[in-house]
Amino acid sequence: MKITGNMVNYYFVCARKLWLFSHQIQFENENENVRLGKILDEKSYGRNEKHVMLDNVVNLDMIENWSVIHEIKKTRAIEPAAEWQLKYYMYYLEQKEIQVTKGILDYPKLKQRFEYHLTEKDRKKLQSYMENIKEIVRRKTAPKVISQSICKSCAYYEYCYV
Ligand code: SF4
Repeated sequence: MKITGNMVNYYFVCARKLWLFSHQIQFENENENVRLGKILDEKSYGRNEKHVMLDNVVNLDMIENWSVIHEIKKTRAIEPAAEWQLKYYMYYLEQKEIQVTKGILDYPKLKQRFEYHLTEKDRKKLQSYMENIKEIVRRKTAPKVISQSICKSCAYYEYCYV
């Protein structure tokens, strides 16, 4: 099973979202893509590589010199999800023998950024998260709705509640 960065992110948001997304029930969030494109164009990221896709698994917002990767988010609403998505990318690249020195969570609209380095503890946690993700995706039916405030901004809101 291929585990994508989005799947890692959704694992921290909602198991049902992870399951729906992984079972091809997807509502493309075009606004999000347009938004990100705008941010990248507005901000001076120079000659760095933007929107780098690897193996249809890793979708990097930006990478500097194949060494520093950036994950760009609009808000800090679900920060653990963004943090582990970024760490998963670092881990994945490491497995491909691409030496990533650090990852940066970038919030251009908030003018904030946070740096992360992948530790041995992170690697172990990621391996465990990956097993959990596989277990959720293999379930025959979707996990229950979580009825949290984040549901209102979720692309699956209507699917889950209406
Ligand atoms: S609307 Fe809520 S319960 Fe449904 S997938 Fe999204 S976060 Fe999960």
